[in-house]
Amino acid sequence: MKIVVGHLYPDYLNIYADRGNIAVLTRRAAWRGHEVEVRSVSVGEPLHAGEHDLLYVGGGQDREQALVAQDLAAKAEGVLEAAADGAALLAVCGGYQLLGRSYRDFHGDELPGIGLFPFDTVAGATRMIGDVLLECELEPGDRRTLAGFENHAGRTRLDPDAQPLGRVVAGFGNDGESGWEGCRVGRAVGTYLHGPLLPRNPWFADWLLAQALAHRLGEAPQLDPLADDLELQAHAVSARRAETRGGRR
Ligand code: GLN
Repeated sequence: MKIVVGHLYPDYLNIYADRGNIAVLTRRAAWRGHEVEVRSVSVGEPLHAGEHDLLYVGGGQDREQALVAQDLAAKAEGVLEAAADGAALLAVCGGYQLLGRSYRDFHGDELPGIGLFPFDTVAGATRMIGDVLLECELEPGDRRTLAGFENHAGRTRLDPDAQPLGRVVAGFGNDGESGWEGCRVGRAVGTYLHGPLLPRNPWFADWLLAQALAHRLGEAPQLDPLADDLELQAHAVSARRAETRGGRR
């Protein structure tokens, strides 16, 4: 099966090696015999609804976010339509913030979001930096942990009825207070977790790949397990760092 990934602003939003997430999705798909075609969708490049099975956007500092925000706002309809039609989506940190309703940056400048995720983000005076451990339940009864790294000034306030990605076990999360991290709308997930995220969370990489395949097939297929020893070791190291950092909740 061939799946098409739309990589939003790869030349602007690629902080902390977030590009590694695309490499992991591509390899894990290939190891199951699937082909992934990655198409750049950057400033001035068109986003055709229905073209992509998964959309991906990485993180970036306020400066890069300001450089893409207007272009992304102009693409809002295409992204919202893709998500509504069941395309999968992963947004990390700066990209995650711009898929909410708005992001007020460190200098107080308001950047428009596209309103896919039900939240607003406001940069605070201090940065939330360090290793993070989350407990997630993306499928009923299937509790997993996500480990990663966060570095953001933004405080993301979810609407009361919003679905978070996970509960903060250690670290700051969306705002350092609520105990929640990330946000989920259907097959679209946003998170503050860098690392990059996917190499050290193989279950989540496969969940995302299955969602992209579901956009093609109609339902998420069972993916053959891979020998994830190295990935699971990386997860354990990242999780232990988060827990010993003292940010445990
Ligand atoms: N510039 C945003 C913030 O500081 C996002 C940072 C990032 O993508 N790591 O909150």
